[in-house]
Amino acid sequence: MPPRFFGAVLFFLGLDKLTLVNMYYTKDTILFFNGKFQKAMEAGIDLYSQSLHYGFGVFEGLRSYQTQHGVKIFKAQEHFDRLKEGCKIMGMALPYNTEELIQSAYQVLQKNHLTDAYIRPLAFAGPNMELTIPKEVHLVIFAWKWGKYHGENLLKLGISSFQRPNSGGLHTDAKISGQYVNSILATSEARSRGYDEALMLDMNGDIASAPGANIFMEKEGVLFTPQKGYILPGITRKTVISICKELDIPVVEKSIKPEELESADSAFLCGTATDIAGIESINAKGFKKNWNQSLGSTIQEAYRCQVLEKSFSYVII
Ligand code: PMP
Repeated sequence: MPPRFFGAVLFFLGLDKLTLVNMYYTKDTILFFNGKFQKAMEAGIDLYSQSLHYGFGVFEGLRSYQTQHGVKIFKAQEHFDRLKEGCKIMGMALPYNTEELIQSAYQVLQKNHLTDAYIRPLAFAGPNMELTIPKEVHLVIFAWKWGKYHGENLLKLGISSFQRPNSGGLHTDAKISGQYVNSILATSEARSRGYDEALMLDMNGDIASAPGANIFMEKEGVLFTPQKGYILPGITRKTVISICKELDIPVVEKSIKPEELESADSAFLCGTATDIAGIESINAKGFKKNWNQSLGSTIQEAYRCQVLEKSFSYVII
């Protein structure tokens, strides 16, 4: 877009004074960096950071919602506990307790006047070119306005040629920065083949997950999801399982072959950024049930009520 036309569009949208630097921040955006609040424009990292060279870092992804009880970060405790646990298994010293992290995230939202937002804490390393655990650890918390990662449409998935990493080689149940090279390759390959997203298999050829979300399939009134082992067992996955308990929907965690998924009645992805997203097809093959009649669609509605702190009623017909 020519710069003058872009300027006119920003003026029309009332965004010109915000001076967007890129889609994630403006010149006024504040982040939490090593215990202080500072402008994103003025924060920087050492180019010798081990995280930049080797991907040694741990991150989280949370969402806040404008609920009827004010702005609330969904499952804040669980997300920051996972960040702390991830840092612990990676040997990174993070000098904040979960409550301090939660309060800092709320302040980032407040200082940036954000309500419905995505929050990204990242623990990263100081300078270290050796293949040893870094002594210097930094923490930053960013937040920006971000809609559902895949939008509202049903998703066309393609089975990836990239496998999920083997849990014998990496801590695949933690959100470790470098592991997402694998996710980027899988999503990019899927897009280049005309799909919305990739579906990854594990080293045994069983269904694992999407590059940034877990999967459930419905068959004859039961929901199935891959068991722990090769997946990141997401906080949304856990929420879905607890919604199913409340709604009396049976859930089974087990290994799932691609052929089983192909013959399912319906399927969906779930994750903090993804929300609950119905799947239209896998490798261009659709499902038997219309999404609106699927268990996933009911769970999507129940999840929406839960994040917005609204009550949900469900009638079994
Ligand atoms: N699997 C992977 C690989 C992910 O990156 C994510 C998103 N962080 C998920 C699953 C879903 O996790 P959560 O529900 O905790 O966001």
